[in-house]
Amino acid sequence: MVLRAEILSIGDELTSGQRLDTNSQWLSEQLGNLGIKTVFHTTVGDSMSDNVDAFRTAARRADIVVATGGLGPTADDLTREAMAEAFRLQLEIRPEALEHIESLFARRKRPMPERNRSQAMFPVGARIIDNPHGTAPGVDLVAPELKSDGTSPCRMFALPGVPAEMMQMFKATVEPRLMNEMGIGAQRWFFHSLKVFGIGESDVEKKLPDLIHRDRDPIVGITVSKATITLRIAALCSSESEFREKIQSTLREIHSQLGLLVFGEGEIDIDEAVHRMLIERGVSLGVLEVGAGAWIQHGLAKLSEPGAIGLQASHWFPSMVAMSPDVKCGDTDSATNALSMAAEQFRKEHDLDLCLAAGTYPTWDAVSTSATLPSSDFSFALARRGKETKCTTVSLGAHPDVLYHRLAKAGLNFLRLELLQHD
Ligand code: ATP
Repeated sequence: MVLRAEILSIGDELTSGQRLDTNSQWLSEQLGNLGIKTVFHTTVGDSMSDNVDAFRTAARRADIVVATGGLGPTADDLTREAMAEAFRLQLEIRPEALEHIESLFARRKRPMPERNRSQAMFPVGARIIDNPHGTAPGVDLVAPELKSDGTSPCRMFALPGVPAEMMQMFKATVEPRLMNEMGIGAQRWFFHSLKVFGIGESDVEKKLPDLIHRDRDPIVGITVSKATITLRIAALCSSESEFREKIQSTLREIHSQLGLLVFGEGEIDIDEAVHRMLIERGVSLGVLEVGAGAWIQHGLAKLSEPGAIGLQASHWFPSMVAMSPDVKCGDTDSATNALSMAAEQFRKEHDLDLCLAAGTYPTWDAVSTSATLPSSDFSFALARRGKETKCTTVSLGAHPDVLYHRLAKAGLNFLRLELLQHD
C-alpha cells in the first residue's frame, strides 16, 4: 500500500505571498524518495482555529503529516497548541527540551527570555525531534485515534519553518524514524521523462488514451513548458533495474504511437538534442535569424560553452549571425524564396554543411497587441551542401511568452528531422 502524506505549511508570510513555500517542494521530494506519495500541500496562516482545522483534516485524510513553521517562541507561533487542541491533548513541559533551549542560550551567553519556555511544551505523548541548530525542537505525534476507515492513526511531524533547520531535522530524525519504525523506504519513486515537440498536449493524450490514467502503474503524466511536452513515467520500485524493467512496455507504446515526435529522453530540450546530433554527425551549421531576437542561436549558443557536452563551440558551430537583411515576409512564396537564397548564400560564404534561416520574427509589440497575431504562418529555409535548399512553413500561435520559443523550436525540429533523414 502506498502511504499518503500531507505537507502543512504554516505562517502568514506564506499565505500573504511575502514568502514562497519552498519547504513543501523539498519535503515532497524527500518523501517521494522514500516511496511516500504526497497528496496534499496545505498552507495556513497564523490563526488558531484554522490551524486546528488544518491538523484535524490532514490527520483524517493522510497517513503521514509533515508540518513546518509556527514553532517559534512568539505569540503568533501556534503549532504546539494547535496540535494539542486538535487532538484534545494537554500540553506539558519537557525538561530535556527546556534544558536544550537553556544550554543554547548559555552558549550564546544570553539570558533565556521567559517566553522561550513555551518551546519546551509538548502535547502529552509526543516525542521530541532534536534541533541542534535552533531553539525550536520539533514534535513527533501519533494521532490518538484510528482513522475512520480503521487504518492506523496518522503520524505527524512538526518542524521549524527555517529551511536549513527543517532539512537537518528531517534527515537526522524524521527519515530514520519513518524507515525504522514504519518500515518505509524499501521502495521509492523512480521517474523517466520523454520529450516531445510538434504536437499539442490533447493530441498526445488522444494518441495514448490508455497510458494517461491516474491509477495506472507505471503512471504517465503530461506537462508542457515553452512548447515542449514532457511525458513523465513514474513508478514505485525497489531498484533502478526493477523500474527499467517495469517501464519497458510503456516506453515501447509511447515510441510506437509518437514516433519522431519524441526527440529525447531525460532532462533534455530540443536545442540540446540538435546540438548532440550535429556533434555526432560532425556537421557544421550556420543560423540566420531576422527580426525580434536570435532565439535559435540563443538555444544553441548556451550549449557551446567549453565542456558543455564535451566539445568546444568551434567543433560544431563555426559561424552564426543575426542580421537584418531585406528579407521580409510579404507574400509567402517570395518570402521563402528570399529566405532560401539568403540561407544558401550564407552557407556558401562560410563553407558550411548546413544553414538554417528563419523568417522575420514578429516584434513583441506586434505579437502582444495584434488581434490576429499570434497565429500566423512562419517560414524556415535549410540550405544543404550539395543539395537543394529545403523550405517549410508552419502555422503557429501562442502567448507572446511562448511564441518565440515555439518558433525557434519549430526551426530546430525542422533541422532535426532533416538530420534524421540522412541517418
Ligand atoms: P522560528 O523559531 O525561527 O520562529 P518557526 O518554526 O516559528 O521558527 P517561522 O517563524 O514560521 O518558523 O519561520 C521562520 C523562517 O522560515 C521565516 O524566515 C520564514 O519565512 C521561513 N519559512 C517558514 N516556512 C517556510 C516555508 N514553508 N518555506 C520556506 N521558508 C519558510
